[in-house]
Amino acid sequence: MRLTNLPLNTLKEVPAEAETLSHQLMLRAGLIRRLASGLYSWLPIGMRVLQRIENIIREEMNRAGALEVMMPIVQPAELWRKSGRWEKFGPELLRLEDRHQRKFCLGPTHEEVITDIARHELKSYRQLPVNYYQIQTKFRDEIRPRFGVMRAREFTMKDAYSFHIDEESLLRDGYEVMRSTYDKIFTRFQLKFRIVQADPGAIGGNRSEEFQVLAESGEDKIAYCDADDFAANIEVIELEPPNKTRGLPTQTCEIIKTPKIQSIEALSKFFKVGPEKCLKTILVQGSKSPAVALLLRGDHELNATKAERIDAVASPLRMLNATEIHEATRCEAGFLGPKELDISIYMDQDASLMSDFVCGANRTDYHYRGTNWGRDIEPPEIIDLRNATTGDPSPKGGGPLSIARGIEVAQIFQLGKDYSEALEATVLDDQGKKRTIEMGCYGIGVTRIVAATIEQNHDNRGIIWPAAIAPFDVLIIPINLDKSCRVREAADTLYCNLIDAGLDVLMDDRSYRPGVKFADADLLGIPHRVVVTESAWDKGKVEYKNRREDDPQLVPFDQLVELLRDKGD
Ligand code: ATP
Ligand code: MG
Repeated sequence: MRLTNLPLNTLKEVPAEAETLSHQLMLRAGLIRRLASGLYSWLPIGMRVLQRIENIIREEMNRAGALEVMMPIVQPAELWRKSGRWEKFGPELLRLEDRHQRKFCLGPTHEEVITDIARHELKSYRQLPVNYYQIQTKFRDEIRPRFGVMRAREFTMKDAYSFHIDEESLLRDGYEVMRSTYDKIFTRFQLKFRIVQADPGAIGGNRSEEFQVLAESGEDKIAYCDADDFAANIEVIELEPPNKTRGLPTQTCEIIKTPKIQSIEALSKFFKVGPEKCLKTILVQGSKSPAVALLLRGDHELNATKAERIDAVASPLRMLNATEIHEATRCEAGFLGPKELDISIYMDQDASLMSDFVCGANRTDYHYRGTNWGRDIEPPEIIDLRNATTGDPSPKGGGPLSIARGIEVAQIFQLGKDYSEALEATVLDDQGKKRTIEMGCYGIGVTRIVAATIEQNHDNRGIIWPAAIAPFDVLIIPINLDKSCRVREAADTLYCNLIDAGLDVLMDDRSYRPGVKFADADLLGIPHRVVVTESAWDKGKVEYKNRREDDPQLVPFDQLVELLRDKGD
């Protein structure tokens, strides 16, 4: 492709709306444009990346024996009522009505529709196992769409669903096959990733794992221990009671005026103690009461799944806002504590080991210091309430856990019979008896992969595409092509030669200064750059540079194709 045929608007300035590097670079390089919150258009260069990603996914899915299908985005409410998710899914499900006032939703995922297909198409155990997949648009009305296509409302997913006669086949012919297929796919994308144990969440089922691309900017935290190969999303790690005893009180409990000191950070600065000496009191919505208090050590994070397991806590978990907190306690947020707090209270295991700690006094602008359980406050019920953190013991016993940040690019689930039972998907077994089908499901976030790849592959000048998913293999930059016929001819010859060699070639034949073209080249991140100048060409040479290298090298024109093949990553 020639750049004179492609209206490319690269941006020099960092767009103010973009927080993450990948979002900034995708806008600056003209891969995507925002239409509305969480809605993005893919422009030609972005589209080429998407297609390369889709092609690799398709190739590996087909190789694994999966069958491509395409299901509607608009799905009837009836089907969702049968699975129970019309009520359960919550506001992420965008609901609509047609002209006959029939209710529909935009598919956030396709378990219902595929199970409906399975119940009609699959009649006998002889047709199993079978795996259907599609690459399709999904819609989820995310509460906070952000980071561009990373957390969009409309996005592309590759979703696959496998059907089996029994659990053994689900594990062997479905789950394990998809797990190793995904492993191959993400290895082909040249991404650094980890497979971690995960929470099945709204999709349901038993065992589940996520594929997490390692990146500092990732929204997820994963805990791992290289000594015993344990790896899990911190959300799912159950923590044993700590093998420690509580320290004895050494301070007296005093009330201290703490005007506007409302965060753990501010408290720990004010009292000159670490956050582990400050008690965090979080108010959440109760299932039968307006508020329930959850207590944690100041340096620990609340685990939503663990909190939702408490009967008195409403599910899904919802933190109270400032007004609700005031209504429930007559006190401003940031000054809450367990002493004389007249609502249900639950405390994390580690919070129960605190001594001489700081906590809110349930009076605006006041905190206690030197507080101790038993002596000053009756300890509430103790449970595991927090996320795992660095140094917690690995559940497999191999040593302390480390924490890394990750971007979830895929998740696989052993669903079992959740959907097939609800939608009555059965087959006849070898005895002629009806059996409910076992099911697995496997999603890849196709559009999110583009952003995740950029998070892992960039420098301060722009994107550095891994060769497998780059929009083009080679970029040709002719210098002064308006002034020199020889450069123009040379560039055209090179362009045709490289295309004949089977490469995807972009030629920057715009009449711009070299500096502009080089800056765009770095921003676009195409793996190989070939510069054509009159002086080099006269010696039968061109200038070659890999996007990851700093210095160009002069290469004889007739050896270029070979060099590109060798460097093919
Ligand atoms: P998350 O926890 O990030 O909200 P999820 O667990 O709800 O994702 P799944 O139902 O597992 O998502 O969907 C499969 C894949 O689709 C995810 O692994 C992710 O890569 C992608 N995905 C999910 N939500 C979005 C979104 N809002 N924007 C872009 N990609 C998404
Ligand atoms: Mg997921």
